[in-house]
Amino acid sequence: MHEYPITEQIIKICTKHCREADAKRVLGVKLVVGDSSGFIGESIQMYFDIISEGTPCEGARLEIVRVKPQLRCPSCGEMFVRAPMSFACPKCGTDGEPTEIGKEFYIEQIEVE
Ligand SMILES: [Zn+2]
Repeated sequence: MHEYPITEQIIKICTKHCREADAKRVLGVKLVVGDSSGFIGESIQMYFDIISEGTPCEGARLEIVRVKPQLRCPSCGEMFVRAPMSFACPKCGTDGEPTEIGKEFYIEQIEVE
């Protein structure tokens, strides 16, 4: 449920950008969402269509780029996406440590017309 306020925020930002660019409407929005960001892309997509009604974002294409969390191996430095039920480095078998990759949440691009 906490995707609702964040989607409202996204639409506010896009609407502001649209006005500042002196454009009529927002055509597309590219959003980067890490799987560990705490937000679910599908929910944002759903709320986006509802909240954008009557705003310059209505009908805009929302593209969500998902980022899989990566771990970093403390022994060999390998960055890897962990396998289900495992934290082991694919190169040397040491348990990986969490990184910032996968916690992303930001608007990468707003396309206006
Ligand atoms: Zn390793």
